[in-house]
Amino acid sequence: MPLTAVQQARLRDDLQGLIKGDVRCDEVTQQLFATDASILQSRPACVVYPRNAEDVIAVVRYAAEMGVPLHPRGAGTSLTGESLGEGIILVLSRYMRRILHTGDDFVTIQPGLLRRRLNGIIDQSQNRIFGPLAGNVSSASLGSILARNGAGLHYLRYGLPSDHLMSMTVVLANGDLLTLDRNTLIQPLQGDDGSIALAQEITYGKEYVYAGKVAHILEGRTSEQLVESSSRLAVNRAGYAEHAVFQGKESHDVDLARLFTGSEGTLGVIVDATLKTVSLPQRKCAAAFFFTSIFKAVEAVSAIMPLRPVLCELIDRRRLNMVRDWDARYRPLIPADAEAALLIELDAGTLENPMDDNDCKDRLKHLIDIVQTRQLSYHALRVNTEEDFPLFDQVIRRSELALGRMLHSIQPIPLFDDVAVSLDVMDHVVRELLTLLQQHKITASFSGHIGQGHLRIHPLLDLAQQDAVSTLHGLAESIYSTILRYGGTISSEWGTGLLKSQFLPQQFPHLFPLFQEIKETFDPQHWLNPGKVIPLQTHWTKYVRHGLEKRGHTPPDSSGSSDSKHSGAKQPGDAPPNQLEIQLKWESAYVFESAYQCNGCGECLRFDRQSRICPLFRGTATIEFAPRSKADLIRGILEHDLDLEKLVGERAKEIADTCFHCRMCDIECPSKIDTSVLAFRSKAAYVAAHGLPFEDLVISRLDNILHGLTPFSGLFNAAMRNQAVRWICEKMFHIPQRRVIPPLASRSYLNRIRWSSRRHRTLPEPTGEEKVALFVDSFINHFDPLLAEWAVQILEHNGVSVHVPTRQRSSGRASFLVGHANRAERLARHNTAQLSELIRQGYKIVAIEPYSASCLTKDYRSLIDEAGSELMAENVSDFSSFLYRWHLANKLRLDFQPVPYRVGYHASCSGLVLSASLEADSVPAENLLRLIPGLEVKRIEQGCCGMAGLWGFQQQNYRHSLHIGIPLFRALRQPEIEFGVSDCCACCSQMAHGTRKRAFHPIRLLAAGYGFLSAPVLEE
Ligand SMILES: Cc1cc2nc3c(=O)[nH]c(=O)nc-3n(C[C@H](O)[C@H](O)[C@H](O)COP(=O)(O)OP(=O)(O)OC[C@H]3O[C@@H](n4cnc5c(N)ncnc54)[C@H](O)[C@@H]3O)c2cc1C
Ligand code: SF4
Ligand code: SF4
Repeated sequence: MPLTAVQQARLRDDLQGLIKGDVRCDEVTQQLFATDASILQSRPACVVYPRNAEDVIAVVRYAAEMGVPLHPRGAGTSLTGESLGEGIILVLSRYMRRILHTGDDFVTIQPGLLRRRLNGIIDQSQNRIFGPLAGNVSSASLGSILARNGAGLHYLRYGLPSDHLMSMTVVLANGDLLTLDRNTLIQPLQGDDGSIALAQEITYGKEYVYAGKVAHILEGRTSEQLVESSSRLAVNRAGYAEHAVFQGKESHDVDLARLFTGSEGTLGVIVDATLKTVSLPQRKCAAAFFFTSIFKAVEAVSAIMPLRPVLCELIDRRRLNMVRDWDARYRPLIPADAEAALLIELDAGTLENPMDDNDCKDRLKHLIDIVQTRQLSYHALRVNTEEDFPLFDQVIRRSELALGRMLHSIQPIPLFDDVAVSLDVMDHVVRELLTLLQQHKITASFSGHIGQGHLRIHPLLDLAQQDAVSTLHGLAESIYSTILRYGGTISSEWGTGLLKSQFLPQQFPHLFPLFQEIKETFDPQHWLNPGKVIPLQTHWTKYVRHGLEKRGHTPPDSSGSSDSKHSGAKQPGDAPPNQLEIQLKWESAYVFESAYQCNGCGECLRFDRQSRICPLFRGTATIEFAPRSKADLIRGILEHDLDLEKLVGERAKEIADTCFHCRMCDIECPSKIDTSVLAFRSKAAYVAAHGLPFEDLVISRLDNILHGLTPFSGLFNAAMRNQAVRWICEKMFHIPQRRVIPPLASRSYLNRIRWSSRRHRTLPEPTGEEKVALFVDSFINHFDPLLAEWAVQILEHNGVSVHVPTRQRSSGRASFLVGHANRAERLARHNTAQLSELIRQGYKIVAIEPYSASCLTKDYRSLIDEAGSELMAENVSDFSSFLYRWHLANKLRLDFQPVPYRVGYHASCSGLVLSASLEADSVPAENLLRLIPGLEVKRIEQGCCGMAGLWGFQQQNYRHSLHIGIPLFRALRQPEIEFGVSDCCACCSQMAHGTRKRAFHPIRLLAAGYGFLSAPVLEE
């Protein structure tokens, strides 16, 4: 039963008084925690972020007292709705994510720590890792890995997570704290739950009491229960692990920790755990096999498994194709006609105990021979070098995520994506399931960790179709019955959650009552994560997320242009905001698609250095600030789960403001969600309702202000050197006093072109074979006109005709940043009209900075629904990309003179987004720099610099901005680097600010190379 507003307010106040952590009960937060990566939805009453075990105990006790359910949650990426519910969500991944202790071969952690982060740290310091991976590679928290104890991708190499658990501390539903040490297992003194319990507790601790109770339950197992228990698959993850509680043959030691692993947060909350670590595996022998049918692949698995691979993954045609499309590097590697592939890896020992190389290679050869002589696979690919392994891993990883890239309403439904059967029946099962799907007229994708019997079956369905849920229901009944008929399990890793627990009695008709007894031993009132393992009365289909059409949704506002009604700031006497007043332009299908395309996968919850997403989430580990939350927020509005007014509230603004539009989501979110636009629409809604704050107006109109100030640049520059003036600027305009402001040019570049030279003003008589119109943008126009001049010189030196359209205006990125939609849209229209006309005349548009190019191509497309914006998207590039393409066409002049410096190159986020890859070994600007003789270029990949255009210029963001840039600054400070280089001027200014070393745009170095600079680079 959802709580009333009064109950909720009380809940919040009470909890906040009880704990050191944070409590959030507002509707927006509830909405953000109402979903995970499953197809389900359930809105919680409250969200609590405990700081320590004491907080957890306090919340648990309070929840029990008040009769409110409690749902432990890590990153919330479960595929079965495991952490969803109507009670209090206990988020452990925000504060409780520390490594508490590191030993030689073990580590003690808090539960909210992500496995990937732990491994990143101990891999570097000790060459060791926590092996098992029962979860999403990027975002699985260790608490959830233990709470689910799934077999996972690395099962064949490492076994189950519980095999690596040494001890754990758990908080029970009544607030009891149990320390469960597997080195000193409990031998219950008495097998009943009765009279001497108190004495036991006083003498030995509560652990003995619970061990006694569990032993009592298990000793009473019936013969049917024992048969059912012993016939579980090794990788079964459905139900409690009652089969593994008794350890030792003679005396029955009770392993309560083993029982808690895999209990899906229903028996207790894990507050810390000590885990064994393992030496890094050697990776020498792997291969990919391609097949003409999925059945041949399945047959090959039986031939391969006797050779004991440590990995055996099945990927079907649909996923293979998506992987090929995702990354061009795979196109030559994955045959286009393959119906299925198996990815195999053999054990090559560990760093500490490597195996003989030849032995591994011989085994691989033998394996390939077997598969090929039996004519199972038609093509095999060996993974030969160390460098190839990341590519190999990525195929697996991307194949898991690839279906999320399907850009239409038919989506892969994660419902049967975790079944398992033994390998000897796999062939029959796959055949039967395919027939079943055909009968239901549904296509599906098949993949999985097939070496351990795991199958991931994703039916492709449009959930918004009227009968979709009942189709799913029917399908679930038939598919699970088939799996169970073959002795399989409905869950081998994910757990059963809200989605599948209702099928548990079917899988374990005899054991299920025993599961209930176990549950009631630890949580008699069912307060802990109800609905998981022991199902609720409510049918699972009631939790299925409602689709758009199903809710009869009409987009908010479809009338009028924003220009006519809004000028940004609210006028005195205006009526209070109402829904119609909010001009969102949500009729654009683009916003709908972006919000709906997010499947909650959690790829954006990353902290590792192999990724840049999301600079603003990283610092806080606050899930509400992750890219995912922007989609959740907008979807909540679209589905009427949140009132439109909530979108213009402070909480929604806080969430939207945690996007500075770096657009890394474009390339790193597997589903290609345009979170930048979603955040912009939220900001714009707020501005439409409340007007633009003065300081944001200053940012948004900075280009106009600079234009007005240029004639007084001398005065302005002197004033900016005066700390008293800077202090006033900070107080009035929120421009941080300590931020370095470069000297304003005495004449803007465009003005120079306009008045002092007609050379580039009128359309040139093309002398070169390519005509380029140069887009300058605000910063270079007002602060660094020389850069624009060199850009023109470089282009002309290379035979390109350059025209500088003097009626161009600022790109509008600053207006976009603050949600000033009217102005952003006006600028977009103006520039699009100017530039698209030139494009029609055969010009290519070259923006000096990728930041501007990204705005002209990507932001404009979401601002104005016009053919012109499409034209721009196709014909605009940034300077470095244009010039590098020129080089690839053998047209770039290489008459460089030596530029003898050692520079650290930082690729701007926009530059990476335009090159569409973070993994690219190099990006255009870097490649160009490497052509200059004498210049030593070191690529520094330490994430975002934290500046994001004018974001870092805002007082409220100043510290955070520098904080984000710290890893980059550290790398740049290395003595071997003389100065920094980046193709974004804002990045350069941040790099210089954070390191006290100068930083330049590559144009400066190219100009030096071509001899256009009158003085050495550093002295100009
Ligand atoms: C693209 C993708 C691929 C995936 N691949 C796999 C896979 O290969 N194998 C696999 O097993 N899963 C997989 N998953 C599912 C999911 O990633 C895992 O379930 C993951 O471990 C969840 O981690 P989380 O931190 O998000 O947990 P959450 O979803 O937050 O929680 C999961 C469960 O753990 C419980 N829990 C969390 N913390 C605690 C705690 N401290 N104490 C007690 N209980 C707790 C929760 O109550 C819940 O029952 C995948 C998911 C996605 C989106
Ligand atoms: S925004 Fe992208 S990466 Fe993040 S959860 Fe959604 S789909 Fe996954
Ligand atoms: S665009 Fe950048 S800042 Fe915005 S959500 Fe994505 S990664 Fe974060």
